[in-house]
Amino acid sequence: MADDADATRRSLMISCADALELMTDHLEGALSPADAERMRAHLEGCEACGVFLDQLRATIGLTMDAGPAEEFAVDPARIDALTELFRTERGD
Ligand SMILES: [Zn+2]
Repeated sequence: MADDADATRRSLMISCADALELMTDHLEGALSPADAERMRAHLEGCEACGVFLDQLRATIGLTMDAGPAEEFAVDPARIDALTELFRTERGD
């Protein structure tokens, strides 16, 4: 039974790369309930992704302050730069 609980927990676990892919949707509230739960579980255990999410939110905040938001525009280059920084810090 403990094994089942572990299996359930593992099925909820996503990698940091997966979390990064979900982050913009997470901020938009566009995740499916299952993905939202995985994201929440990952953020609970991963400080680095929490920091990354704060940076991403700040980036988006700046973008929105700059003018009327067209959709949910995030500069892909900015995301790439943050992702690179994040990978370097994580050492993967
Ligand atoms: Zn993470």
